[in-house]
Amino acid sequence: MPALPSPAPDAHLIEIFSSIQGEGPWVGVRQIFIRFGGCNWACSYCDTGVEALEYCKVEKDPGSGKFKDVANPVSLSFVAELVASWKVVHPRAYHSISLTGGEPLIHEHVLLEWLPKLREFLPIYLETNGTLPETLKKFIPHLDFIAMDIKLSTVTGMPTPWDDHRRFLELAAHSRCCVKVVVGRATSEDELIRAASMVRTVAPETVLVLQPLSAKGKVTIPADKLLRMQELAAGIHGDVRVIPQNHHILKLL
Ligand code: SF4
Repeated sequence: MPALPSPAPDAHLIEIFSSIQGEGPWVGVRQIFIRFGGCNWACSYCDTGVEALEYCKVEKDPGSGKFKDVANPVSLSFVAELVASWKVVHPRAYHSISLTGGEPLIHEHVLLEWLPKLREFLPIYLETNGTLPETLKKFIPHLDFIAMDIKLSTVTGMPTPWDDHRRFLELAAHSRCCVKVVVGRATSEDELIRAASMVRTVAPETVLVLQPLSAKGKVTIPADKLLRMQELAAGIHGDVRVIPQNHHILKLL
């Protein structure tokens, strides 16, 4: 007797909600956010509780800001039904589904099964720390937008994985992608020059976003330093934009 296909694996999620994209060149588009638990990096500024708990927080009504608890791990059928129902509530509002975290790519076995199904509803937008190129390679055909980070050591407190970032960007550049660099008071000119040079060389059409580090919604870097950073990076790469985290400013999720 032929074996029955095994069901899609469940996922440990932190939360699912409806809001606007607050970062990068697609800032302002409405998305359904699926936040995966766990991360392979440990940025000193991380403001996300990255570990999934016993329950995933699921917004009761899209955009309401009110949540209910759903036991982890969460099934694909639950998420697919939720996305379908939210699309009925606001049929033309959504740009895409944002897979965020944590680091979504550490959930490789889940994404392999989930992405084709979720993409039937909306385009897929991946937010990633840009450190796992070999995993990304498996998902490129299922992704519509990729927002990747370059993790500078002076901001994260960890060595910058330059080789992994370069390989990641080489792959991501075949999709619609952008590169985000969180910058802070300690960011050095050498780091910025290296990041901008890499983007110019590997993906010259890609937007490079300088995102000022913020704490409790307030930018922590002086405006004049931010402008000097933009001038420096723009002297190397053709499209450099300073974009803060807008969802905090708008007091959105
Ligand atoms: S990569 Fe993102 S989720 Fe992971 S530790 Fe850094 S800021 Fe937090």
